[in-house]
Amino acid sequence: MPAPMHGEMQPTIYRFKLGGFEVTTIMDSKVVRAGLTPSFGGEQQADEVRALAKANRLDPDRYEHPFTPMIVNTGKELVLFDTGNGSLREEHEQLKNRLPAGNLVTRMAEAGYKPEDVDVVVITHGHPDHIGGLTKGGKPVFAKARYVFGAADFDFWKKGENVREARKFNRELYVKICVPLADRATFIKPGDEVVPGITAVDAFGHSPGLMDFHIESDGRRMLNWADTCNHYVVAIQRPEWQLDVDDDKEKAVATRKRILDMVTNENLLVAGFHMPFPGLGYVERAAGGYRWAPHSYQMNL
Ligand SMILES: [Zn+2]
Repeated sequence: MPAPMHGEMQPTIYRFKLGGFEVTTIMDSKVVRAGLTPSFGGEQQADEVRALAKANRLDPDRYEHPFTPMIVNTGKELVLFDTGNGSLREEHEQLKNRLPAGNLVTRMAEAGYKPEDVDVVVITHGHPDHIGGLTKGGKPVFAKARYVFGAADFDFWKKGENVREARKFNRELYVKICVPLADRATFIKPGDEVVPGITAVDAFGHSPGLMDFHIESDGRRMLNWADTCNHYVVAIQRPEWQLDVDDDKEKAVATRKRILDMVTNENLLVAGFHMPFPGLGYVERAAGGYRWAPHSYQMNL
């Protein structure tokens, strides 16, 4: 009897030490989308995007888009960054063909965490794939947690002024999911501390109030850049290209360049929500721009 085919099997949980902290990245879900063009590249010739994909051994017509929240255990508090897609797909007809079902809670259990273990949920920005796992059937999933929102991001989505057409439904979701959590939330601005060792960094652009987070313990440092760069080749090798899902496109470009410059100069480990799993890597300078260097074993030593 030949051995049976078992289907794909890929890692979804990764944990390492950062000084005295434990950091776990958990892939909530992933989806294959058509593209990369025209999503990436804006006004650019589609040919350039396709050529860049091919030069990096990527299919120019389809790309894998992972969703990877991150948990930091500081030893005192368990801090979850973003919540994945949750039940959005089953609860909202409009998202059926857009987002995969979330698996964060199931995979957290495999990693040793229950939802009620989470002390703090940090929402980097208000897009569906980051807020979707906050509630299920209208009830908070992380029952004992307090929430941390960027003040600028919360205001933007709550007020709902200047929300572009493509984000109108996103805004409805935000009002339904996040606004009711305000009485258990703290609202922070760049430079503010979430808990000792975790500090917000201005990354406004992709969402009007997107925040990155600098994480430091015992002199070991990293940056969770959330959605500052949304594809490990296109957004990093060509940070100046506009992206259809960026809300403030010019600011997003300026932010990408500034953050890429910072992580390169400071040689920071980066965690990115949409980088290939485990979502960890470094950025190095390359001809004309930058290049993603995936984490191998640096943090395992
Ligand atoms: Zn995202």
